[in-house]
Amino acid sequence: MSRELSNKPTSLTIIKDSANRYFASFVVETNPETLPKTSNSTGIDLGISTFATLSNGDKIEAPKPLKQNLKKLAKFQRKFPRTEKGSKRRERRRLRVAKLHAKIKDIRTDFLHKLSTDLVKKYNTIVLEDLNVSGMVKNRKLAKAISDLGWRQFRTLTEAKCEKYAREFRTISRWEPTSQKCSNCGFKGGKKELNVREWTCLNCGTLHDSLRLTGGYRDINAAINILEVIQPKTKVETTEAKVIETPVQLSLFNEVAEGRSETIKRTQSHRKSSPKKDANGNDVSTRPESTIQLRLFD
Ligand SMILES: [Zn+2]
Repeated sequence: MSRELSNKPTSLTIIKDSANRYFASFVVETNPETLPKTSNSTGIDLGISTFATLSNGDKIEAPKPLKQNLKKLAKFQRKFPRTEKGSKRRERRRLRVAKLHAKIKDIRTDFLHKLSTDLVKKYNTIVLEDLNVSGMVKNRKLAKAISDLGWRQFRTLTEAKCEKYAREFRTISRWEPTSQKCSNCGFKGGKKELNVREWTCLNCGTLHDSLRLTGGYRDINAAINILEVIQPKTKVETTEAKVIETPVQLSLFNEVAEGRSETIKRTQSHRKSSPKKDANGNDVSTRPESTIQLRLFD
């Protein structure tokens, strides 16, 4: 055994897989672990050339051994059917394919485990795009690349770890225009097709290009937009972004109006339930008649 168990196992199962490997599976009770608190958030854009692009610009590539072994696997699989059924040679080749399959799965799972653990340690909120993986896998060209990359497994692992460590896991609709929207100004003017690698924002002039050497600002733009669906920034002049102004104004309001908490509480509950009606909030917050003015909006 290569690792000490933290507790006595309550059950033990021995499993043999198709590659003739033996696994011992224990059930051990453990105490829930905790991670240090953080308020960091990240949006993640999953891609084929770069596995993941984070909204802070970090790029995560899939490991090279995975790609190398996939080429080897294709070669092995081509040779396998050219053997006589029931022959020793056929069994040898079957085992060779199964062993390589198992190896690839291990490399991929190891990579996805490390990545998801790392992300859950660093971020309190993780936002992914709810990709229609099964729909995409029907597209034969994309199918192999996607299933090899393990997007679905990545999502499953990340979600499970978020739950385990009380982090926030969020997904956004795949219909959100995350690649068309300019993350600099919020203007929706980019192209939709996957093959459009470069576009310039017609509103602010920012170039969202592919920059092949670094992996692509275009993906970072999408990652920023994925995060902003959940956490809109006030600087972006869009209708969705205005909703966020409410809590900011409320805290200003509280500081100014100390000592009149009872009136304020009523006002707050009014304003919370109708965040769109606070357009003049800043202006009235310094005057005592503010509550009367606010009621005019209800
Ligand atoms: Zn722009």
